[in-house]
Amino acid sequence: MKRAALWVILLTMPVRSASVPPSTRPALRAQLADNPEVRSALDWFARNLAAINEQQIRLTEIPAPPFQEAQRAAALKAVLASAGLDVQIDSTGNVIGELLGATEKEIVVLSAHLDTVFPPSTEVKVRHEGNRLLAPGISDNGTGLAALAAIARACHEAHIKPRRTILFVADVGEEGEGNLRGMRALVDAYRTKLKAVIVLDGSGTDHVTTKALASRRVEATITGPGGHSWSDFGMPNPINALVRASVRFINTRVPVAPRTTFNLGQIEGGTSVNSIPYEAKLKVDIRSESEDELVKLESALRECIAAGVRDEMESARDRTKGKLEWKVELLGSRPGGELPPHSTLLAALRAADEYVGNQSRIERSSTDANVPLSNSIDAISIGAGGAGGGAHSLNEWYDPAGREMGLKRALLTLLGVSGLAEEKAR
Ligand SMILES: [Zn+2]
Repeated sequence: MKRAALWVILLTMPVRSASVPPSTRPALRAQLADNPEVRSALDWFARNLAAINEQQIRLTEIPAPPFQEAQRAAALKAVLASAGLDVQIDSTGNVIGELLGATEKEIVVLSAHLDTVFPPSTEVKVRHEGNRLLAPGISDNGTGLAALAAIARACHEAHIKPRRTILFVADVGEEGEGNLRGMRALVDAYRTKLKAVIVLDGSGTDHVTTKALASRRVEATITGPGGHSWSDFGMPNPINALVRASVRFINTRVPVAPRTTFNLGQIEGGTSVNSIPYEAKLKVDIRSESEDELVKLESALRECIAAGVRDEMESARDRTKGKLEWKVELLGSRPGGELPPHSTLLAALRAADEYVGNQSRIERSSTDANVPLSNSIDAISIGAGGAGGGAHSLNEWYDPAGREMGLKRALLTLLGVSGLAEEKAR
């Protein structure tokens, strides 16, 4: 039996199995880590921690604002190529480094997003305070990118030959209005071959995201003829209509479970206090643990906008000077989904946790893993070790203490799902 196959079977065995005495179980579970090449890859991290820190600083200092990831992508291309991978940049801007497995028909992806939330003018020079590194994007996703590069390099140095082909991917468009476009393109391109996606996002080893939080970002716009506040009084007013619609919408009842939320986040319109405006706009963020609730709430918003416009038209004294128009547009949509609890991927992560002596909790969050999960492809998102905080703020920090555990955890999870190519007879 292949070692990798044995690993997977052992991992998927129930915790209280009568056939394997408890005392022998840890030894059996260490099979993957006992493989000499895997051992060598795991050992590579400890010797190279300083260089991994340097790599993280270097990559963080290359700006990667939304939709402007190309410069950082070029750097990642060089880094992954130097780890012996065959590297391409796809038409969306994703950097894809291939480690060919025994089979090309099955693919496992290890990914880290390239983009930050910060505009181009942001100072990204990394500062040092004690053991901490400080810079916007240092943890999210400097840590993930440094880990992606380190794991690729460790596999190369250790001559790891996986059973399934591994793609090391630095992808674009994870944050905000990037709307997961990099991961969407990747899943579209490899859909039928893709067996698992492991997303490295930020720091820590305390969680594993297996549930994708679904969300919609929607913009409502109401327009009208506009006019003078005194002489045109009584004509329909887009701000009035938007206020009427908003009051209706915020009275919408949402369930506590599945947790469902909405936020009226931005409202704008009008040109001056003594003008009837010709336009009013509202941006709303809608999230839910349930795709059904999300769809319901989005259609409730459309109904409320339509009703607000209707109310305003009905109460207008003068409808001869034009009517109101409205539209609701989707700014972004993140699909939901969940990893099945008995998946091989979660078993591999749990076994890796056990091997490195880590405990992690299941989380629901909005990450690149949303895309594969919504397509029924196994996926998780995990931190890449060390500790970080202040994500999406100018005070973002990273402390590399404990990084090695995060790297080993990610590598063992990756090889747990890729498997190893069958060894030649010795
Ligand atoms: Zn991130």
